[in-house]
Amino acid sequence: MLRPVSHRGTGSEPATDRAGGLRAPTEAVTILRTVDALRAALLPARRAGKTIGLVPTMGALHDGHLSLIARARQECDVVVVSVFVNPTQFDEQSDLDAYPRSESRDAELAGGAGAALLFAPAVAEIYPQGHTTSVHVGAVTEALEGEVRGAGHFTGVATVVLKLLNIAAPDIAYFGQKDAQQVVVIRRLVRDLNLAVQIATCETVREADGLALSSRNARLSPSERLRAVALHRGLAAAQARATGGVSDPAQLLDSARAAMAEFDVVPEYLELVDEDTLEPLQALDRGGLLVVAARLGQTRLIDNATIQPADALRSTHATGRETELCSA
Ligand code: AMP
Repeated sequence: MLRPVSHRGTGSEPATDRAGGLRAPTEAVTILRTVDALRAALLPARRAGKTIGLVPTMGALHDGHLSLIARARQECDVVVVSVFVNPTQFDEQSDLDAYPRSESRDAELAGGAGAALLFAPAVAEIYPQGHTTSVHVGAVTEALEGEVRGAGHFTGVATVVLKLLNIAAPDIAYFGQKDAQQVVVIRRLVRDLNLAVQIATCETVREADGLALSSRNARLSPSERLRAVALHRGLAAAQARATGGVSDPAQLLDSARAAMAEFDVVPEYLELVDEDTLEPLQALDRGGLLVVAARLGQTRLIDNATIQPADALRSTHATGRETELCSA
């Protein structure tokens, strides 16, 4: 039985869903703070052959996170959401200190989206005294975010994700395409270390004007918020030129830069890279990943889009194949 320690304090047993799986009533998520408690809570479901989905987050949940939880709930019997602001992946102490935290709201939202369990450990639970092991994933961690934030960033990410995968032992773990390099790094980690988990990637959820949802958006001043749409506009401008037949990365990137300049935003980096290796593409002769980062005041934002060469788009339209929203 899942421990019924609801954050609302109902003390009631979790409901059984239509498929007979263990599931907390939507808003009554169970909060667990230790590795042992989470493992114990998941044991009955695991023994009963139920599927377990894990959605790792750093909290301050928004609709982007909730889309991952909702998809996990569609595909898994039990959904665990982890909320852990991982200190080892922050390169600036001020960024870590300023990171928004809102556990009771997160618990309510996670439960509402279909999570049964919220794993919210203290830092000392994940990194007890004497913890020294870390995972370095290699080449795909070095460019882009790795270059700006330092080599330690993705080592921090990979180490905590590996720990969360070992702790929850999910069948499927869900990540957002919003953090495209993170997805590449995690997929590499899973392949290289033969981890028995499926990685699902979900499309970026955006505001009406195209700004990708992020916990960091809350830090934007009203005028920065207006200018923040520059990242999406830059990506869209490059996509439009690619659709129009341009395959030269320099031209595509120029279009993106010009669109961003209209909002007085200069990218920190802007690159067209291979979707698996993250190495720069010499020509858009296959699908590519356009990645961008920019600072608006104190806030650093990232975004990305996959772009296809014009002829690939034409043949896709001809066959009527549609882009998948989420991919496993
Ligand atoms: P974070 O709490 O920022 O570490 O994000 C937790 C997960 O949510 C990561 O897999 C992110 O990629 C994903 N995520 C964050 N923002 C979005 C978004 N706007 N749309 C979809 N997924 C997102």
